[in-house]
Parts: sequence; C-alpha cells; structure tokens
Amino acid sequence: MPDAKKTVALVNGTGRQAASVIRAVTSLGWKVKAQVHSMEGLVAEELEELEGVTLLEGSLLDNPVLIDALFEGAQVAFINTFPNAGDEVKIGKALANAAKKRGIQHYIYSSMPDHSTHNPHWPALPMWASKFTVENYIRQLGLPATFVYAGIYNNNFTSLAYPLFCMDFKDDDTLEWRAPFHPDTKLPWLDAEHDVGPAVLQLFKEGPKKWNGHRVALAFENLTPNQVCVAFGRALARPCRYVFDPNIEIKVPIPAGYREQLAGIEVLFGRFNAPYFPGPEFQYPSKGRGSGETVTAARRSSETIRSKPKKLTSEARELWGGYRGIEEYAREVFPLEEEANGKDWMTAKKVST
Ligand code: NAD
Repeated sequence: MPDAKKTVALVNGTGRQAASVIRAVTSLGWKVKAQVHSMEGLVAEELEELEGVTLLEGSLLDNPVLIDALFEGAQVAFINTFPNAGDEVKIGKALANAAKKRGIQHYIYSSMPDHSTHNPHWPALPMWASKFTVENYIRQLGLPATFVYAGIYNNNFTSLAYPLFCMDFKDDDTLEWRAPFHPDTKLPWLDAEHDVGPAVLQLFKEGPKKWNGHRVALAFENLTPNQVCVAFGRALARPCRYVFDPNIEIKVPIPAGYREQLAGIEVLFGRFNAPYFPGPEFQYPSKGRGSGETVTAARRSSETIRSKPKKLTSEARELWGGYRGIEEYAREVFPLEEEANGKDWMTAKKVST
C-alpha cells in the first residue's frame, strides 16, 4: 500500500502551497481533485494541463456540494485554506467533516500557531489563530491527520512597496530590509513553490502510521534577519542591510484583516521577540532570545530530556533533501520575479563606487 498511487484532494489549488503539492504528486502519476477560486490565470491553466488533475471551480464557503465532491474518490488530502476565501474556521470545519464522512485516510492540514495559548502576554495573530482552531477541531474529530506549519516563504520578498518583506533597492545600489523581527533571532524559511510538494508527498508516502497527530515545521532554513541579508547580498552582489523597525509601514492597499495581522506581528515579534513557532515540538537549541529560551527550560523540567533536542529544520530536511535555500532563491528566482513585476534593476547599470 505505501507506494500505491493515490488520489489527493486539495483546496486553494492555485495557491503556492497546494500548487506545489499538485506538481509533485502528479509527477508520480497520482490523481488530484483540487478546488480553485477561479479557472483564470497562469497557474490554473498550468494545472489544468497536468495529467490526472480535476479542478473544481467555486467558493468553499457554504458550499457542501463542492466540498463533498472534492473528497469523493480521494484517499488523502492536503488542506491549506486561504483567509480571503471567507470564514476560515467555518470552511475548515466543513472540510474536515466532509473528509471524515468520506473516510479520508491521511489529512494533511496546513496550520499555524496561536501564540496566546503559549503565553498570556502574547497576542493571537488573527490569520494564524483561525487555522489553529481548525487544527484542534480536526484532532477532536479523530481524523488521521498531520499538521504542517509553513515557514516564511522566500518569495514573500519583493522590491514592490508591500509591507513586511520589502527588499528595498536604494539609490546607491544597496538593499535594505526593514521589519519588526529582532536582527539576531532565528526565523524559519521555506521556498513554498519548490519544497512544499516534495515534503508533503513524502508525508503521504510514510503515512499516518508514522505521522498521525504530529506537527511538522515545513522550514528548511532557520536564519536570522541579518543572515538573510547576508544571503541576499551575496546572491545579488550588492550590500544588503537589515534594519529593525518596530513599526510596519503600510504604503499600499492591503487585503481585509491584514492590518490587524501586521499590528499583531509588531507586538509579538517586535515587542516580545516571541519564537515564530512556539511549543515544545518546534524547540531547538539557540543562544538568541525568541528561539529557544523558554524551550530549554521546559525541556529541562520535562521527562523528555533523554533525547537531544531536534533542530527546527530537521524533519523537513529528512522529508526532502533537495530544498532551495534563500541564497539560491535570491540568485536564481528573485530576479525573474522582479522582472515579471516590471523591475529593471537586474539589467540597469550599477552606480559605480
Ligand atoms: P497564495 O497566497 O500563493 O495564493 C492565494 C490563491 O488564492 C491564489 O491562487 C488566488 O488566485 C486565490 N484567491 C485570490 N482571491 C481569492 C478569493 N477572494 N477567494 C479565494 N481564493 C482567492 O496561497 P498560499 O500561500 O498557498 O496559501 C495562503 C495561506 O498560506 C494563507 O493562509 C497564509 O497565511 C498561509 N501562509 C503563508 C506564509 C507566507 O510566508 N506567505 C507562511 C505560512 C502560511
């Protein structure tokens, strides 16, 4: 059974996480049933062309017919909901109920933490806490499930004026990233398009016998903002400076709810220097705050001290060793994405120093 070809149900099929899974599983001849918000756009067109892919177009909110059809004939599922698609908790619960009814054998749910459950001073980030509520619901339902926690996508970076991950090209040809993350606190990184698919495929292959109930950090590198800037600087052959700024400047229109998310990020990471993924399963040895202090103490007092604390990235790297790191991303992919966004810094003559 472990190597049998399966049918995978997915939602938000054109999103970076799900599309990566679809590419990986179809390359092995597995079948896919994926809900998409719209059949228009490059990714939907690409997926439609793949052998064995059925796309179901429509909303997930209050749509039991589509949701039931999605799981019909599928054995496993990868579920990453998208906040703009409507009430994520309602959608998440409806999907889990339907999966249970259809007897899904392995439900991989893309979750995120609710920091307020770890420390009363830490705020819950609204766009993450809803996913954590659904994770708890899935656990209560008793679905055979694994909970993946996606790290920060490498390709969040852009030189467009979006908040939080703007890699700003200065007039003197240097780069600057400003954010409320502490400069020397490690953060988990992921190349979502490149690496979610192969890692999730391996989870499906190893199955719920190994992974039922587990939380897995989908993060292949654990780098501080200063280290990220060193990688970008090396890749793009220009100095890159990280500036800790407790306030996130919002210069462009942003989706509903994102303002509250950003305000929470300022408090959680800027003020409290909280670990990005809290909780014992994500703890790893480190000197920096926000990346292990509470953990080490918790571990010392726990009976699980027997084994060496694992690294945040170890499970993801065991699942998939061919990941794309941020330096490779910055060198190989970032310039192409920038060009697609109408930027020309990659061909423009450098200011001579
Ligand atoms: P994505 O952001 O790559 O794509 C979103 C998709 O939703 C697009 O295909 C778009 O066509 C579609 N869409 C646009 N408007 C829509 C609407 N109104 N209703 C429904 N769909 C619509 O998606 P993704 O990155 O695979 O998943 C997003 C989720 O991942 C979010 O919940 C986010 O919080 C979470 N996440 C992101 C990061 C990160 O670093 N960016 C990290 C961890 C988790």
